[in-house]
Amino acid sequence: MDQLVLKVDSILPQTQCEQCGHKGCLEYAKAIVSGEKINRCPPGGDAGIRKLASLLELEILPLDQSCGEHVPFETAVINPKLCIGCKLCVTACPTDAIIGSPK
Ligand code: SF4
Repeated sequence: MDQLVLKVDSILPQTQCEQCGHKGCLEYAKAIVSGEKINRCPPGGDAGIRKLASLLELEILPLDQSCGEHVPFETAVINPKLCIGCKLCVTACPTDAIIGSPK
């Protein structure tokens, strides 16, 4: 794999949310190295854009609002004493972050 692609990928948040219009962070990293704009990742926000601009010696751009809005990372907490094992949270999670056995 191209080292520059790996460096760009290491800056991207790895949520694999596809808001950038690509099938995950690695695909967006490949696109950036091929000339795609660096401002299409809402989870990375302005901080991510600044890091990408620094790495690639490009102009700092504002986040492309058509891709989505930057919101700070949040943490979901599951209380195992209250969990009834319905798996609604597993279905709702956009990043497959919730794993484990029922209850
Ligand atoms: S928008 Fe950002 S975090 Fe989401 S898949 Fe694209 S590069 Fe990854």
